[in-house]
Amino acid sequence: MLLAVSTHRMADEDLQIQERARRFVVEELIPWELHAEEHEGEIPGEIAQGHHDLAIELGLFAMNMPVDLGGTGMTMLQQVLVSEQIGGVTNALGWCVHTPPAWAPAVCTSHQIDTWIKPTVAGDIHECYAITEAGAGSDVDSIAATARRDGDDYILSGEKMHVTSFNKAAYCFFQAKIVGGSNEGAHAMFFVDKDAPGVRLVREPRYTHTFPDTHAVVAFDDVRVPVDNLVGDEGDGMAFTYEWFRYERLMIAARCCGAMERLIDEATAFAKGRVQFGRPIIENQAIGHMLADSLNDLWASRLMIYELARGIDAGLDVKIQHAQCSMAKLFASEAANRVADRAVQIFGGRGYMRENVAERFWRELRVDRIWEGTSEIQRSIVADQLAKRGAHELIG
Ligand SMILES: Cc1cc2nc3c(=O)[nH]c(=O)nc-3n(C[C@H](O)[C@H](O)[C@H](O)COP(=O)(O)OP(=O)(O)OC[C@H]3O[C@@H](n4cnc5c(N)ncnc54)[C@H](O)[C@@H]3O)c2cc1C
Repeated sequence: MLLAVSTHRMADEDLQIQERARRFVVEELIPWELHAEEHEGEIPGEIAQGHHDLAIELGLFAMNMPVDLGGTGMTMLQQVLVSEQIGGVTNALGWCVHTPPAWAPAVCTSHQIDTWIKPTVAGDIHECYAITEAGAGSDVDSIAATARRDGDDYILSGEKMHVTSFNKAAYCFFQAKIVGGSNEGAHAMFFVDKDAPGVRLVREPRYTHTFPDTHAVVAFDDVRVPVDNLVGDEGDGMAFTYEWFRYERLMIAARCCGAMERLIDEATAFAKGRVQFGRPIIENQAIGHMLADSLNDLWASRLMIYELARGIDAGLDVKIQHAQCSMAKLFASEAANRVADRAVQIFGGRGYMRENVAERFWRELRVDRIWEGTSEIQRSIVADQLAKRGAHELIG
C-alpha cells in the first residue's frame, strides 16, 4: 500500500523514531491520563520516575540538544515527529519528554554548561523561564525587572508571573533590563538558582488544565548572582527569547497535530458506535461533516509543520523561519481548538465529562492560542513580514 505522501517521503530512521514515540505515548502515558485528571494532575511517584527514565532510554529526552552534551541531536523533522506523538496525550504526561533550551550550548560558558546545562540534558535537574510580568506579557520589551551590576555580582529585582514548572525547577532563566552603565535599558538573561536568597514564591494560582506543573508568581528580591550567571552579554536577552519562541511555536504546532489526530480517531470511533434514532450518528451528515472538517484541519496543519521542519533542516533563512513558525503555530493551534470543540459536540453529554479525552483537550488546547505569543501576536508577525518581504519570499 502506498502511504500518504508526507509519510512516504520519510527516511526509515525518521519513521522508526516516530513509531518509538507513538508506542511510548500509547502504551505508557495514555493509560495514566484518567488517574492524573482525578489527582490534580499527579500520578504515583514511581510511575512518573519510570516515564522519565524510559523517555531517556528511548532517546526522546533532550532530543534537541547536541550529542556531545548528552542529547540525542535529532533533526528538526524528527523532533516534530516526536512532539506530534507527545501531543496525543493529555494532562502534561508528555512533558517527561523534555527539551532544554537549544540556544544555550552556543552561548553558555563552560561553567554554565557544567553547572546547569549538562545536568538538565541528563534529566537530573529542571529549568523554568521567568520572563512575563503583570505589566509585560505580549510586549516583552516592557518588562520592569532590573539587573544592576555591583562589583563581581548583579543584583536582580522584579516579580514574574506564569512561571511554568517553578515547582519542579532547580533554576530559572530570569530576564531583566540593565540598570546603570553603558548598556542601560538593554535586556539580559541570567541563570538564577531557585534556592538563591531573595527568590520567593508569591503564589501558585490554579489554571484551566489539570497539570502537575504549576505556573507560579515569583518575586526576586535583590537576588545577588555572580557575573558568571549572565548568559551571553548584556543586550543579548531578547535574542535567546526569540530563538526559544521560534522553536517552541513549531513544537506547539506539532503537539496540536497529535492532539487533533487523537481527537479525530476517538470521535470517529464513537460516532460509528453510537446509535440514535436507529442508526450510528456518523451516518448523519452533520456529524460526518464535523469529522471531515477536522481531518482537513489536521492535514493542512501537518503539511505545514513537516514542510517547515524540512526547511529548517535544509537551512531556511531565520527571518523566514520566524514568520513560518508563527504561521504554523497560529494555524495549528486554532485548528486544534476547532477540532476539540467539534469532538466535544460529537460526544454529546459525554464530551463534557472530565473522564472524556475530548473534554480534557478542549480545556488544555485553549492555552496554545495564548502562550509563546497569542494568535493576535502571531498574525502581527506574519503581517509585518508579509509587508516587508511579500508572499513569494515567505512561502515560496
Ligand atoms: C499556562 C501559561 C503558562 C505560561 N508559562 C510561561 C512561562 O513559563 N514563562 C513566561 O515568562 N511566561 C509564561 N506565560 C506567559 C505567556 O507567554 C503570556 O500569557 C502571553 O505571552 C500573553 O501575554 P499576556 O497574558 O500578558 O496577555 P496580554 O499581552 O495582556 O494580551 C491580552 C490580549 O490583548 C491582545 N493583544 C496584546 N497586544 C496586542 C497587539 N499589539 N495587537 C493585537 N492584540 C494584542 C492579546 O493577543 C490578548 O488577546 C504563560 C502563560 C500561560 C497562560
